[in-house]
This record gives sequence, structure tokens and C-alpha cells, in this order.
Amino acid sequence: MSKVIAINAGSSSLKFQLFEMPSENVITKGLVERIGLNDAVFTISVNGEKVTEITDIPEHGVAVKILLKKLIDLDIIQSFDEITGIGHRVVHGGEKFNDSVLITDEILGELEELSELAPLHNPANIVGIKAFKEILPSVPAVAVFDTAFHQSMPEKSFLYSLPYEYYEDYGIRKYGFHGTSHKYVSERAAELLGRPVEQLRLISCHLGNGASIAAIEGGKSIDTSMGFTPLAGVAMGTRSGNIDPALIPFIMEKTGKSADEVLEVLNKRSGILGVSGFSSDLRDIESAAKEGNERAELALEVFASRIHKYIGSYAARMYGVDAIIFTAGIGENSDVIRARVLQGLEFMGVYWDPALNKVRGKEAFINYPHSPVKVIIIPTNEEVMIARDVMKIAL
Ligand code: ADP
Repeated sequence: MSKVIAINAGSSSLKFQLFEMPSENVITKGLVERIGLNDAVFTISVNGEKVTEITDIPEHGVAVKILLKKLIDLDIIQSFDEITGIGHRVVHGGEKFNDSVLITDEILGELEELSELAPLHNPANIVGIKAFKEILPSVPAVAVFDTAFHQSMPEKSFLYSLPYEYYEDYGIRKYGFHGTSHKYVSERAAELLGRPVEQLRLISCHLGNGASIAAIEGGKSIDTSMGFTPLAGVAMGTRSGNIDPALIPFIMEKTGKSADEVLEVLNKRSGILGVSGFSSDLRDIESAAKEGNERAELALEVFASRIHKYIGSYAARMYGVDAIIFTAGIGENSDVIRARVLQGLEFMGVYWDPALNKVRGKEAFINYPHSPVKVIIIPTNEEVMIARDVMKIAL
């Protein structure tokens, strides 16, 4: 029996889940928030109960020390030796990594080089890796990349129609993200459909605060909506998704903002928040729309209609589709968004049942039995994929 910890380190946070493997039982999970501040919040679940502590956590190394000490103090493990492997989520693996990899000093150097492509994410992931390496130097650690699953995209999908040398010289191309989630739900869909994934054409809609759609043919991602960065594709909680690129200098001129400031608007003040004008959280938008708030209604329409169009486009791309998958916070929970996304798709064989669509947060088919195209809700589980890859690669 092994105990594997899956880590997702952000710039001021660190999420963890401790698994017993190979059973995949979750022993405990939790998160540290507001790292770098003197009122950081440490939360851990013990036997289903949440324990919260507010304490001074100046940096990730301290967060890791507190986490490991807590595991012992709470009798979750008796000694650090029980942790047999660590899996780290790393956002960007560039073109170099099409699968998870054992982290060596050389690999760590390569991850640092990739920070140029993901300056908002990779540095934080690397800080997490180093913090664990310092405290548990002999425990094997594996990097699991958000981009890896999409490395199977053909050139016609990943290439931007820009001067070709930009791709050769600067690595400018579509990379795609949420790969671990798209991979998990596509494999799970194949199990639920009782068919080999190699025979399936799937459209996976990962709809959380960040959102992306993927076309998955024969178990391989062949196209996805996010791009060079996670800003592209559909509208999201606070991100704009695709816009006309000529708008950037136009907004700069009109508002006097710098390019970085406009990018900040596109990342943090657009999408559902930008259109509604009051919230990025879909629950707020749904209840306001119900009460007649027109901007909230518009935000729902903008969000759903982009996803609807991607489904049509990816069905065309694969010459058909066997199943549409909904996952992540909105995909798993919002019958309102699912209904608007699926509306009118009967022309391509999607017959969905409004009564079944009411389901929330659990695996379920929501299509009528006779529907040629199945529609499946699958709660995502990126952490278990990370733990599985640690077992596959390091143990
Ligand atoms: P992240 O990308 O940060 O992991 P999540 O996958 O947790 O995000 O998704 C967050 C989104 O899911 C929020 O917009 C939230 O409002 C939405 N959401 C969560 N539960 C519900 C619900 N019951 N109904 C509608 N939307 C929900």
C-alpha cells in the first residue's frame, strides 16, 4: 500500500489531497490560502470534518512544513516515511512534455525555462515542488501538466495563422489547458458508455471559473478552445475568451491603459463579471437573472452561446460526435447553462431530457435513451489522475 499526495500550488495557495493507492481512497484533503500574509488560512478535512487554523505562513516552504506536521499531529500518518510519492500539478509543459514526468534536477531546470510561457502559473508550481523537495528529498515527485493531454493536437489545430517563424522562433502556438480534467472525463465517459475510448468522438466541456472545450477523438485531444494562454476560447468567470485582437490597441488608446493593464482587464474584469457588471460567480448570476436582471440574463446567454457554438464546430471537426460531457463547477451543477448550451442541438442527434438535466454534482446520463448522441455529467477528478501518474511513473 502506498500513500501519495497530490499538490496544486498557486501563487498564494496550496491545495493537497492524500490518497491511499492503489485503492484511490482519499485519506485527507485541504488547502492553505493567503500564503505570504500573517493571517494565512490552513484547512484540512479530518473524517469529513473541516479543521481550520489561521496562522502566519510567510512562504510555501512553511506551508509544507505545517501541512506535514498536521498530518502527524492529527494521527493521519505516523511518520513522513509513509508518504511514498508526490504529484505536482504544473500548468505549462510546453512542447517538451506530452506526459507526466519524474522530477529530477534537470527536469526542474526545464520547468523553470518554461516559466516564460506561463509566468502567472509555473513559478508558483515550481515553488511548491522545491518546498517539498527540501523537506522530503528522497520521496519521488512527479510533474503532471495541464497541457500534456493536448500535445496530440495536429499542427492544423495548434498553429495560429501567423508568420510561421513565430512558431519556430518563439513557440507561439495553441497549447491548451485543463488537460488532466479532459483526459479524466473522457476515460470515465468511455467506461460509462461501455465502449473503448479509441472508438469514440467526445466533446468535453470543462466549465468552472476557467472554462475550456475539447474535441477528443479516439482518446486523443485533437482540438481545444484555450490557446497560447488560458485566456482564449469561451467566455469565463472573469476572462474574456476570444476577442478581436485589434481591440487591444483600440482599448489602450481609448482608456489610456498600458498593454499589461488591458491584459489585466481581459483576465480579471471580463467574461461573466464584465458582462453582468456585478459577479463572476454563476450562482449569483442565475439568481439575479431569475429576478429579471437583464445584464445577468445577458451574461448567461453570452456564456452559454459560445459553448454551444464550440460544440457545433467540434462535431464538424470530428465528422460527428458520440457523447457530450459536462464537468467542473458549472458543468456539474448548472442545469440552466446545460439547457442553454444543448438547446436546438436535436438537428445533430442530441436529444436531452429536461427532467434528467435537473441532476447536480454526480455522474449521470441526461439524454433520452434513443438519443444517438449521449450527454453525460461527470464530476472531474484531476487529483486522482495526478496520484495515478505518480504510481505509474515513480512507484
Ligand atoms: P475553478 O475553475 O476555480 O476550479 P469550479 O470548477 O469550482 O472553479 O467552478 C466554479 C463555478 O461553478 C462558479 O461560477 C460557481 O458559481 C459555479 N457553481 C458551483 N455550484 C453551482 C451550482 N449549484 N449552480 C450553478 N453554478 C454553480
